[in-house]
Amino acid sequence: MQRLNIAIDGPAGAGKSTVAKAVAARLGIRYLDTGAMYRAMALWCLRQGVPVHDAEAVGAALPGAEIAVRYTDAGQRVLLSGEDVTDGLRAPELAMAASAVSAHPAVRVRLTELQRQVAAQYDVIMDGRDIGTNVLPDTPHKFYLTASAYERAKRRFDEMRARGQACGTVEDIAREIAERDYNDSHRAFMPLRQADDAVLIDTTGMSVEAVVGEIVRALGEECDG
Ligand code: C5P
Repeated sequence: MQRLNIAIDGPAGAGKSTVAKAVAARLGIRYLDTGAMYRAMALWCLRQGVPVHDAEAVGAALPGAEIAVRYTDAGQRVLLSGEDVTDGLRAPELAMAASAVSAHPAVRVRLTELQRQVAAQYDVIMDGRDIGTNVLPDTPHKFYLTASAYERAKRRFDEMRARGQACGTVEDIAREIAERDYNDSHRAFMPLRQADDAVLIDTTGMSVEAVVGEIVRALGEECDG
C-alpha cells in the first residue's frame, strides 16, 4: 500500500513542529519529530560521558545506544534504552549537543533508518533538516519552511518562556540559532538544504493556520495532479 509521507524541513524556529503537528491532526496521520531523535542521541552521549564532537568516540559507542519511537495517546514518545525521555528533550543544552552529534555520518545513518521504518509503517508527516533530501527523497510531498532570523528567535523565546525555561534575551537565542543553523547547513554529510522539488514557504508574519492552509492546499493539488 502506498503510504502518505510528507517531508517538512527548515532551520530552527521556522515553525516546523507546530505546523507539522497541526497538519497531522487535520489529516488524521502521525507526526514524527526527528529532532527529538537527535536530541535523544545527544542525551545518551552526555549520560555516557561520550564527547559529542568526537566522531570516533560517538561511532564506537553507538552500538550501545538504544533509541526507539512509540506512539501513545500522548503522541510520539522517544525511548532511550526503554526509558521514556521525551519530556526532557527540549532542554536548551540538548539543542547544541544534538547539532554536534547529528554531524556524524554513523548517527545520521542509524536515525535515518529508524525514520524510514516509521514512514513505511504509518502515514506520517516528519519534520527535520534532511527529510526531503535524504530520509524521504521519493515523496512528492516536500515543504521547506523558513522565517526571518528575528522572528525565529522570538518564537523560540516565547516558546521557552511559556515552558518556564530560563532563556536569556531574544538576542542570545538568535546567536544560538545562527550557530546551530550554520553547523547544520555546513556539515559535510546530509546538511540542511532545501530539496529541489520542495515547496518553499516563508512563514514570517504568517499565522499557524495560514501556513497549515497553504500546505493542505498544496497537498490537495499534488494528490490531484
Ligand atoms: O529540530 P530540533 O531543534 O529539535 O533539532 C535539533 C538538532 O538535531 C538540529 O539542530 C540538527 O542539528 C539535528 N537534526 C538533524 N536532522 C534532522 C533533525 C534534527 O540534523 N532531521
